[in-house]
Order: sequence, then C-alpha cells, then structure tokens
Amino acid sequence: MDAEQLREYGHKMVDFIADYYKSIENFPVLSEVEPGYLHKLLPDSAPSHPESLQHIFDDIQTKILPGVTHWQSPNYFAYYPSNSSIAGFLGEMLSAGLNIVGFSWITSPAATELEIVVLDWLAKILNLPNEFLSAGQGGGVIQGTASEAVLVVLLAARDKVLIKVGKNALEKLVVYASDQTHSALQKACQIGGIHPENCRLLSTDASADYALSPAVLGEAISNDVANDLIPFMLCATVGTTSSTAVDPLPALGKIAKSHGMWFHIDAAYAGSACICPEYRHYINGVEEADSFNMNAHKWLLTNFDCSALWIKDRSALIQSLSTNPEFLKNKASQANLVVDFKDWQIPLGRRFRSLKLWMVLRLYGLENLQGYIRNHIKLAKHFEELVSQDPRFEVVTPRKFSLVCFRLLPHNDEACASKLNHDLLDIVNSTGKVYISHTVLSGKYVLRFAVGAPLTEERHVNAAWDVLQEKASTLLGSM
Ligand code: PLP
Repeated sequence: MDAEQLREYGHKMVDFIADYYKSIENFPVLSEVEPGYLHKLLPDSAPSHPESLQHIFDDIQTKILPGVTHWQSPNYFAYYPSNSSIAGFLGEMLSAGLNIVGFSWITSPAATELEIVVLDWLAKILNLPNEFLSAGQGGGVIQGTASEAVLVVLLAARDKVLIKVGKNALEKLVVYASDQTHSALQKACQIGGIHPENCRLLSTDASADYALSPAVLGEAISNDVANDLIPFMLCATVGTTSSTAVDPLPALGKIAKSHGMWFHIDAAYAGSACICPEYRHYINGVEEADSFNMNAHKWLLTNFDCSALWIKDRSALIQSLSTNPEFLKNKASQANLVVDFKDWQIPLGRRFRSLKLWMVLRLYGLENLQGYIRNHIKLAKHFEELVSQDPRFEVVTPRKFSLVCFRLLPHNDEACASKLNHDLLDIVNSTGKVYISHTVLSGKYVLRFAVGAPLTEERHVNAAWDVLQEKASTLLGSM
C-alpha cells in the first residue's frame, strides 16, 4: 500500500463519484441492458499484468454504468429507497480505509464500543424502552440487512422455546405474521428448520388497511394450541413492503405475551420516520416487544448496509449464536468484560459499520434528519394529491409515510385493470425518466411511488407525474 498512490487514486475516484452525482439525472434511471450484456464486453480471464486506472475508469463509463440502475437518482421511486449521503459515504470510506474485522472486542475495541454507543443513541432518538439499551440486559447490534435481523431473532426465539419444550418439538413450533410480512421471515423459517406449514401468514384485507387483526391472530393461535402445536414467535410489521400497513402492536403484543411467544417488530422502512415525534406513535406498543429492527440504510441517509436490531435479552441471541474456539480466545472475552458481536450475528467477520451511522448522526444532527423525513413525506403527500385530482386514477390505500399506492382505472372492465397498470408501469419505466415498482393488493395490480431518494425535489415528483399522465393518456386512447 503506497499512501501517495492512495491519495492520487482516491482523489480521482472521489472526483469520479462527485461527477456521477452531478450528472446522475442524465442516466436512464432503470438500466436498459439485456441479460448477459457484460459477459460479452469483458475478457474471459483476469489480466496477467497491471492495467492503468484510466483504462478501468473508461470501462466503468462505457461498460459498467450502462448496467447500473440509479438508486440515488432523484427520479428513483421504486421499492423502498436506499439512502446515500456524504456523511454515510465518508463513514464507508473510513471503514474501508481502516479495514478492520471486528468480530470480537479485542480485534478493534473502538468498533464494538462505537456500535454500542451509536445504537444506544438511535434507540433514544426512537424513544425505545430502556430495556433495549446496552446498560441493562439488552442492546443493539448492526446487521447487514433486515433479513439477517429477523433470522437471528428467529433462531434466538426458537432455541429459547426448545430449551423449555425439548429439541424434539422443533416440528411443532409455529411462527405468526400477516400475509403482508416481508418474505425475509419465510426465508428465516427455511433456514431455521421451522416446518414449512408452520409459518402462518395470516390474511389481511383492505378494510383494515392490510394490518394484522388481533382477532385473526388469536383464533389461529387457539387452533394451533388445540392441535398440539407450539406458538413461539410473532413478527409484526410497521410499514409493510407492499403498502406501509402498520400492525396494531399493543393488541398483538399482549396476545404474544399471554402465550409466552417472542414478539418481534420489523420496521425496516418506516422505523426511520419514527425519529419524528409526530410519527413515533406508529411504534407505540414496542414496550411489549422482545426485539425491534429498522434499516438506517433505507431512509436514514446511511449508505447500504446498516440494519439496526435491538433486543431486550441479549443472552438469548448469544445462547443461539455463540461459539468459542481456541483460536479466538482472549483475556477480555474470557473474563466476560466485553461484548463480542460475533455472537450476535451469523458470520464471524464484521465491518466497522457504526462509523457511517455515527457520521450521519453527527454531521446532520437530529433536527436535520427529522426535516429530511418530513420533506419526503410532504412530497409523497403532494404526489397523492396529484393522483387524487385526476379521475382516471385512484389512490388504493391511505398513505401513511412516503409511499403512495395507486393505479390507473380501466374504462369499464375491471378484468383488464391489471394488464393496463402493468403496461403503464412498463411504458413509464422504459422512458428512463422515472422508475417506479408495483405490488398486488387484494388481487389488484397496484403501482407504488416511494419518495425517498436524497436528491428528490418537488420538480422531480411533478415530472414523474407528467410522464405517468402522458403515458396513461396514450394507453387509454389506444384501448
Ligand atoms: N422488512 C421490510 C418491511 C422491508 O420492506 C424489507 C425490504 O424492503 C425487508 C424487511 C428486507 O430488507 P433487507 O433487504 O434489509 O433484508
């Protein structure tokens, strides 16, 4: 490693990235390449001799960027956002620069300790119950993704109940969630050995805005108990992936507690909004939860990946996930003086991710972060109003955060509505001017407009709406 070369190349790379952000609106938001395009453009084997940085930059321009979908474009409204910021970016740079592997406290004490401090900060910002703070039996940990968060929690919940009922009862364990719950839960069940039929994804409907009904949950649990099955975990969601449904946490939590179940809350996207006092009520009931996760990498300006998970009883995680091979033994760990985050996650190795969240919290400050969230919600509300004013469209579910679910209404035949909206999505996205995604709610094909890219302004929302209206006119006119 030559420090001067790092300086020279590093400056060039920062310049390249800064220029990218400056010109980001010139790219088609959704990549237009065909599958396998890159294989044809790159050599079959790695070079035997070093190549110049300029040559590589040229390839990035001509071969890589065409295959990039520009998640940071202000015209990106698909899925949920994946935020980038200068603060998050600097934290990532420093993390890459130090390049430590902080699996145990001793392997870089600052990495473990900063993570503990920063997750305590964020827990306080979210006004989580004190039991989630590191001072007691609980604490926070950064996972790569919400999928990993739900997996480790499911393993902890599974093992906790198996200690009570015996390992042979694995086949009888049942986990509950709504049919709107992210597929990450199903994957966690697959990995965790939960019988495929015992992942109950309970029906929701439009009348309750796709939230899980406590009555439906109670009935499912009673049936399962009557059939000698063992309810062990409930996963509620605040801000579902399809439509931002919010499950009624207080009532669900009470049911979970009364059956001795682990209660997890997945607030991967909407958790960020709860840093604002006016949206904090969406996680009322978190007091009942055993664990809670939100993705700072979605909507809190922290570059991917950074999923914050808090747990009230850290020993449950450690019980499931710890190993203690000779080659990792050290004085601090043996004396039980420290946290070793290797025992709170699936892999051994871990990055110094807390740096970027720390940089974000410090360089923005809470008030600016709240303003950031409020602005996106304001823009989504604006889009919702635009949709409502055009009688050819309907808003499908009431907007809560920064996602608007809407669709183009067919002339008279509901049967062709799915095709119509599918076609509209394709045509709009193929303009390269905007990228939106879809879902299906109650059998209806629905378009999703998620505001949340850091560079998005009202003019981008208006321009996206213009494209949608224009293409809708073309489609309806051709019917
Ligand atoms: N949970 C919810 C509610 C989500 O919306 C998502 C992704 O959008 C996930 C979980 C999965 O997130 P990740 O990619 O961090 O695993």
